[in-house]
Order: sequence, then structure tokens, then C-alpha cells
Amino acid sequence: MGLNVIMMGPPGAGKGTQATRFARERGLLKISTGDILREAIKEQSAVGSAARALMDRGGLVDDATMIAIVCERLLRPDAHAGFVLDGFPRTVGQARALDRIMEERDNGPLIVVDVVVPEEELVRRLAIRRICSACGTNADPFGASAVCTKCGGAMVQRTDDNSAVVLERLKVYQRATRPVLEYYRERPTFRVVNGAQAPQRVAQEMDTLIDDAAAAGVAMKAGAERTL
Ligand code: ADP
Repeated sequence: MGLNVIMMGPPGAGKGTQATRFARERGLLKISTGDILREAIKEQSAVGSAARALMDRGGLVDDATMIAIVCERLLRPDAHAGFVLDGFPRTVGQARALDRIMEERDNGPLIVVDVVVPEEELVRRLAIRRICSACGTNADPFGASAVCTKCGGAMVQRTDDNSAVVLERLKVYQRATRPVLEYYRERPTFRVVNGAQAPQRVAQEMDTLIDDAAAAGVAMKAGAERTL
């Protein structure tokens, strides 16, 4: 049975960092929709050209495009051990589509982790965030290196991390993505992590909560099968 995790949380919560780490440590497929779209922009594909203007002003790419991208990846064989989703679902429509895909896959429960960080801390983090212009890696927030420690590329600010766009992204998060948390909140596999701590502390707390939620998910499924 697969270990299937969604990392939820506002921009700047650190969900991308944790998603990358968790997927690496557990041998899971990481799917970051933001990275996929930035890649599409670099390659100047049709999806990339359509997404660019929307992303630069902090809006969302349409549900049908995002659902098709994620569905295609989740049904690949390398998603069989499970996955970590970062940046999806961002709307209730996307969450409903993901439930349908999960039913079709029939490969373990869906664990939802909400990484919570106060808004003023998010604004502060996004103002100083730098990413590598070549490989997209986030800079260590405590290091001041001008080049990427992984590939030597130049560190730059993401075009959607300037202050006006950040405020718009936080608004879009409240309007479109907060309802997704309510969609999941009552499930036995929903967990909340305090993201306003050092990354290692967040990681420890998260790992314990995910293992606990996975056990709850298995018990839930076994219960449902008994009543069939
Ligand atoms: P953040 O750090 O704000 O969470 P991401 O890298 O996840 O940023 O995403 C950047 C941008 O890509 C979003 O502001 C949005 O325009 C677009 N995007 C990413 N995922 C989705 C999605 N699931 N649905 C719609 N738009 C998306």
C-alpha cells in the first residue's frame, strides 16, 4: 500500500522544503505543481505560456489544466510506493478530482498535512527567499551565498515573490485554498503541523504525525472493508 501525502499551507510555509525532504527520505515521488509550471515556462510549452502571466500576478492556473498534469503523474508506475504533493490541490474542485483519482488508484489512504505559519512571518520569509535560476533549488534562509550550493547557478528572487504579488497570493490562498482545508479537516488522516519552528523541528513533528495518520488511514480502510 502506498504512502500518499498532501502538503498544504500558504506560500512561504516551507511545504516545498519539507515535501522534498520527506519524499527523499521515504523513497516517494514528489510532485510540486509550482516547479512543474516553472519548468513549463522555461521550456516555453503551451501550458507554460498560458501559466506565465497568471503566475506573475499571483493568480491560479485553471483546474482542468492542473488536474490533467497531476493525474498523469499519479498514474505513472513510479508513484506506486506513494507520493508527496506540494501545491495541489489548491481549490475544492482540484480536491474532489484528487479523491476520484485516489479511488481509481486504490493504493492507500490520503494523508493531509497542514503546515501553519502566521501571516507576518510568511511575508518576511517570502521577501528574503531566493531560488537558483538554473535548477530552482531554494536558498538556505540562513546562508547568504550568492550562488547555488547544488549547481553553482545564480540566486535570484522568484518573479512572484515581490511584495505586491505576495499579498495577492496570500489573498488567493485565503479565498481559494482555505476551503480545501475545511474539505479535509474532519478526516481521520488530517494533521496540523506548526511550521513556525526550525526546519528540523518541523520535520520531526511532521514525521510523527504522518506515521500516526497513516496508521489511522489503514485502520479506517480496514473498518470500511469489514462493514462491506
Ligand atoms: P507557493 O510558494 O506560492 O506555494 P508554488 O511554487 O507552489 O508557490 O506555485 C506558484 C504559482 O503556480 C501559484 O501562485 C499559481 O499561480 C501556480 N500554481 C501552482 N500550483 C497550482 C495549482 N494546483 N492550481 C493552480 N495554480 C497553481
